[in-house]
This record gives sequence, structure tokens and C-alpha cells, in this order.
Amino acid sequence: MVRREVVVLRIGHRPQRDQRVTTHVGLTARALGADGMFLAAEDRGIIRGIGDVSSRFGGSFFVKDGVSWRSCVRRWKESGGIVVHLTMFGINLPDLEDELKNINRLMVVVGAEKVPGEMYEIADYNVAITSQPHSEIAGLAIFLDHIMGPDALKTAFPDAPLSIIPTARGKKTRGQEQE
Ligand code: SAM
Repeated sequence: MVRREVVVLRIGHRPQRDQRVTTHVGLTARALGADGMFLAAEDRGIIRGIGDVSSRFGGSFFVKDGVSWRSCVRRWKESGGIVVHLTMFGINLPDLEDELKNINRLMVVVGAEKVPGEMYEIADYNVAITSQPHSEIAGLAIFLDHIMGPDALKTAFPDAPLSIIPTARGKKTRGQEQE
């Protein structure tokens, strides 16, 4: 079976305002099985925050900041990848879901404030998670849930120094916090 590669491209990030939301975009992508996140701004705090989670809970999720979104999209497409831009103006996910599930290299673009008009043109698909305004974190979570298949909700990292044992009450973990 061909291994699927899914990455997120976060555009429009404003370091003073969007740190928490962008960190949660990355953590959501990681938790639902994506490989990494490109960030079209420089922000070492995002790299540290997500890196800290990965060093404790495992996996090899990458975060690369300071990318130019145009070059990032262009390179992805030149190497055979498909670009999905999440926007409330797009085609609703249920109408594209079957087609998108069969793509092996997928870049998912989420915006912050205003997304440049060019993005709507260069994306292979503009996909709406309902035609109502909401949030990039919610949009990404629902998109990945639909596209990655049922195993995404049980993402586990075999090398994890610390992992959670699901339990009906209380908190159970396996392993140790790293020093
Ligand atoms: N007003 C902005 C614009 O002109 O594109 C959107 C701002 S919204 C807070 C930030 C991001 O959340 C969007 O760029 C999009 O990626 C995502 N988003 C919000 N609502 C969405 C929806 N209904 N479907 C898909 N993505 C959505």
C-alpha cells in the first residue's frame, strides 16, 4: 500500500495575534495523522510549542516556518501533490470526499484573516466545511476526520516517551515525562 502524505500550509499567521490558533492548527494536524505543517511566517514560538508536544508524546510531525506560500504551493504541485484550500466559499466536502480520499499527496491550506484571491485560483480544490464562517481549527479537524479514515481517531506514536491509556475515569499514562 502506498503511504499517504498529508501536510498543512498555514497562511496569514500574525505572530502577535495568532500564536495560539496556529499552534492548535498544528496540534490538530499532528493528532489526526498529518505529517507536518508549513507556516508562511516566521515564528519560532510555534515550532517550540509543537516540538515540545512531539518530544513528549512522540511522532515525527515537522513544522517549517518562514516559507513563501506561493513557492510552497508551487513546489508541492510540481512534485505531483494536490492542494486543497479550506474556505467557506468552496464546494462542500461531502460532494468531493470520495475523490479526495484517493489522493496520496495532499496539502491542506488554511488561512487566518484575509486569504489572497490568488489562493482560490491555484488550489486544485476549494473545499467548504459547511458554507458558514467558523474556524481554521474546526475546518481542519473535520476535513482530516473525513479524509484520513477511521484510524485517524486512534493516532498513536510507537516511539512516544509518554502516552495516554484511554480510561473511563481519571487519568492513566504510560511512560515518563522527559527531563
Ligand atoms: N474572512 C477570511 C477570508 O476572507 O478568507 C476567513 C477567515 S477564517 C477565521 C480563517 C480560516 O478558517 C479560513 O481561511 C479557512 O481556511 C477556515 N474556514 C473558516 N470557515 C470555513 C468553512 N466554512 N469551511 C472551510 N474552511 C473554513
